Amino acid sequence: MTLTEKILARAAGKARVQAGENVWVNADVLMTHDVCGPGTIGVFKREFGANAKVWDRTRVVIIPDHYIFTADSNSNRNVNVLRDFVREQGIEYFYDVIEDPNGTWKFDPTRGQLARQYGSHYAGVCHSALPQKGHTRPGEVLFGTDSHTCTAGAFNEFATGIGNTDAGFVLGTGKLLLKVPETMHFRLEGRLQPGVMAKDIILHIIGEIGFDGATYRAMQFDGSGVAGLSMDDRMTIANMAIEAGGKNGIFPFDARTAEYVDHRTRLNGTRQHYAPVEADAEQRFVYELVVDLGRLEPTVACHPDPGQRKPAKELEGLKLDRAYIGSCTGGKTSDFVEFARVVRGRQVAIDTFGVPATPEIVHDLQTTRWGNQTIWEILRASGVQMTENAGCAACLGGPVDTFGRMNTPLKCISATNRNFPGRMGHKESQVFLASPATVAASALTGKITDPRAFL
Ligand code: SF4
Repeated sequence: MTLTEKILARAAGKARVQAGENVWVNADVLMTHDVCGPGTIGVFKREFGANAKVWDRTRVVIIPDHYIFTADSNSNRNVNVLRDFVREQGIEYFYDVIEDPNGTWKFDPTRGQLARQYGSHYAGVCHSALPQKGHTRPGEVLFGTDSHTCTAGAFNEFATGIGNTDAGFVLGTGKLLLKVPETMHFRLEGRLQPGVMAKDIILHIIGEIGFDGATYRAMQFDGSGVAGLSMDDRMTIANMAIEAGGKNGIFPFDARTAEYVDHRTRLNGTRQHYAPVEADAEQRFVYELVVDLGRLEPTVACHPDPGQRKPAKELEGLKLDRAYIGSCTGGKTSDFVEFARVVRGRQVAIDTFGVPATPEIVHDLQTTRWGNQTIWEILRASGVQMTENAGCAACLGGPVDTFGRMNTPLKCISATNRNFPGRMGHKESQVFLASPATVAASALTGKITDPRAFL
């Protein structure tokens, strides 16, 4: 069995499963957020009754992160709906925007978009917050009401996005009926060259198979090249499995996985016991691709979908209006570090927005010094508009006052994960997906630029 089949067999209480089989699996964690949470709660109450209790209040994780720093009253209200439900159910893990468990959230636009407006519980973008807060464990099943839940496959778990109806059912029962996906095998060999990042790996792979090339399939990434990838790198790759239509993305377990998970579960006092899975010697794949990491180049996915891959150097000269670094794909500390390496001591030529994924990343950037400046100060000095309000921001457009949103038809190079028309705001805008290093180099020139020119 493949990694995915091994986890699903265990979660179904069976010795074996095979692709195509329908099985009931037990959920280890259900995550929801401010966009889908209220709908999920509505389904749960409708189907299980107004006084029903969730199946396990210690396994539900609620993370407001999407439409937070906006004056839009419906968006603010969604966070309040989540808080009421958490109080009613006694849910253990709720990463509220405000301090007061009986208060209400209201964004204050008069304080501007840059200075932080959250309390000490707030955790930022759910897919980055889940591992940081100790909710990702090898061998487990994680369901989330968000398509990029697949990010947690970096930790050797089965993690997938589900809709509100399924999530309402999981809230009530802790179970879900799943068809076991077929597995596609991506064997990573060698090491990345300077200026080439994990984002380039996944853009290359999606370019090979197309934006629907992995529809309802597991994408298994393994091979000797994995050892050279950090957990942040693995998260970037697993995050974008859904951009090829994948049911999930998954990595093997190794010492790096253990180090990260053990540290985070201890730090946060979450469940520390876990049981990783190893693939069998005999595995059945429906597709196989060997990727020589050493031969990859800085890559861009052009408008209008993540499969439109081209080498950055072929696109050089394509004029841009905006650059954006942030999201669960490209808003991690390591992403900002690579970005800062390129822009340090230089000035961006176009509007450039920086949105860290979590408050912890804001803290990292504001406390890590390179010489006499913090990374945050280096980015600001280069002209990057950095907000402390960690969250999804303009990655998915959002209300019109969202930081970095494209309200007019602009061309933007972005470290995010999705570029279908309208994704970051205006439906006639164009988004080019690239690594933080390529976004940084392009921000400096105002045109798509291979970052190796600056390294
Ligand atoms: S940062 Fe973007 S991709 Fe990630 S959860 Fe938020 S909206 Fe979705």
